[in-house]
Amino acid sequence: MNKGITKREREITDMEEILSILDKAKVLHLGLVDGDEPYVVPMNYGYLMEDGKMTVYLHGALKGRKLELMRVNPKVFFEMDCDIVPFEGKTACNYGITYASVMGRGKAVIVEDTEEKIKGLRVLMKTQTGRDFDITEKMAGIVSVIRIDVSDFTAKKRPMG
Ligand SMILES: Cc1cc2nc3c(=O)[nH]c(=O)nc-3n(C[C@H](O)[C@H](O)[C@H](O)COP(=O)(O)OP(=O)(O)OC[C@H]3O[C@@H](n4cnc5c(N)ncnc54)[C@H](O)[C@@H]3O)c2cc1C
Repeated sequence: MNKGITKREREITDMEEILSILDKAKVLHLGLVDGDEPYVVPMNYGYLMEDGKMTVYLHGALKGRKLELMRVNPKVFFEMDCDIVPFEGKTACNYGITYASVMGRGKAVIVEDTEEKIKGLRVLMKTQTGRDFDITEKMAGIVSVIRIDVSDFTAKKRPMG
């Protein structure tokens, strides 16, 4: 359940700012459900934002724990962050760290269609590098591609000072 951000003044609602975080973060922490235990795995990602609706693409090996878990329970939660700068203070309480982050939840889908796998890999490479890449059917065939249909997300930042 999305309970809303406690420190409302740190919430980000401006879409340009949210896109800037998604472009910069590069690493997504994917939360999965393993029976009655959480499982979190860091991964690189690509994203699309269309009419405020976010779709995330991930890629990886053709087998492993995360794939097994999402086949059983496709519900996922994710987090990505950037602008991490620790700062000092006179007392322990004045120390801190700046950040900007996005969190959200959605449903993971293991993509089987080759055309969509190629699209997902192109999206991933664009987010990671800022460049357009040609992806062949052969390249798409040796990896798994996961699409996250994001149902909702929030963004937050702690600036310096
Ligand atoms: C910055 C970063 C970016 C990454 N980007 C990608 C990516 O884009 N795609 C991708 O597939 N993988 C990526 N990885 C590796 C990823 O975190 C996993 O190791 C990998 O995806 C295998 O996950 P799995 O659930 O299939 O684990 P399995 O290989 O099935 O792992 C079995 C066990 O190994 C341990 N384990 C797995 N991964 C890690 C880990 N990262 N650190 C410590 N212990 C671990 C866990 O205890 C897990 O239960 C990235 C890792 C980092 C740190």
